Amino acid sequence: MLEAPGGRRIRYLRLSVTGRCQLACVYCGEAEGGDSPLSPSDFGRLAEVALSLGIYNFRITGGEPLLREDLPEIVGRISKLGPGDLSLTTNGIELSDSARDLRRAGLRRVNIGLPALDRELYLRMTGVDALDRALEGVDAALREGLLPVKVNVVLVRGMNDSQVEDFVRFSREKGVVVRFIEVMPFGIEDGLVPADEVLKRLGPGEDVEVVGSGPAEYFRRDGALVGLITPITRPFCERCDRLRVTAEGKLVPCITSDFGEDMVRAIGEGKIEEAFRRVVKYKPLRYGTFHGSMRLIGG
Ligand code: SAM
Repeated sequence: MLEAPGGRRIRYLRLSVTGRCQLACVYCGEAEGGDSPLSPSDFGRLAEVALSLGIYNFRITGGEPLLREDLPEIVGRISKLGPGDLSLTTNGIELSDSARDLRRAGLRRVNIGLPALDRELYLRMTGVDALDRALEGVDAALREGLLPVKVNVVLVRGMNDSQVEDFVRFSREKGVVVRFIEVMPFGIEDGLVPADEVLKRLGPGEDVEVVGSGPAEYFRRDGALVGLITPITRPFCERCDRLRVTAEGKLVPCITSDFGEDMVRAIGEGKIEEAFRRVVKYKPLRYGTFHGSMRLIGG
């Protein structure tokens, strides 16, 4: 078992498999990297040791993980270990081509980053005219049963805050969960839309408990299932049960950490467990200064 300061048991590992992405979202930060130096078998080895330490939930992220051609193999290596959960965070653009292979490889579910439902606004926020492809990705995920499909909406004032009600309707019509996320200042300083403002705008809803390891608070509103993720106005560090492997192959204790263990070296030396045990000790009680790029850290 791995326990971080504050008695936080670590149960969840996020793996950023690449720093590459087709999009340049306004909230993601500038730095772009290449693919992770870790191979599918390296990810499998990491997951095996993580499971032996009580980490049973895994999420593959990026950059854009679907840009890695060997993604089904990465999924397969982790899936065959029998994790509690195995999910993927993607922008959905390539998902209609790969959802079936990923499901067959053992992927359970997906979160899809979708900043807007309006074509012009999507282009403005991501730099790419790809809303239709992303929506095809949502449909493919639903068709393949990668459920529940969760749609991540990072809200930015003056941009997509006008879309809140549209996303609620989208959730109801499609049967997806929509999650409004407070923007963390990675490459964007302004634009925070506090979750309470969203709540007020949507009016009272029925609270629901959704089982999962994540920090979202969920409620039902007019048949839609809506989540709020509040890293800024209600940080959840005291409940944080996760570690991350960045696209540079570094195991880090927090989204704002500079300290990390080089997992290429740890794997080469056969010292993976030692690296986990060292990193967890440095998990801060509260996140530090946001810097760097979400592409490398993996969101
Ligand atoms: N390319 C994939 C995607 O678009 O979802 C995976 C990587 S992306 C870095 C992962 C998630 O990070 C996004 O879905 C988005 O919800 C979240 N994210 C990115 N920048 C953020 C920011 N500044 N604040 C809060 N969440 C952010």
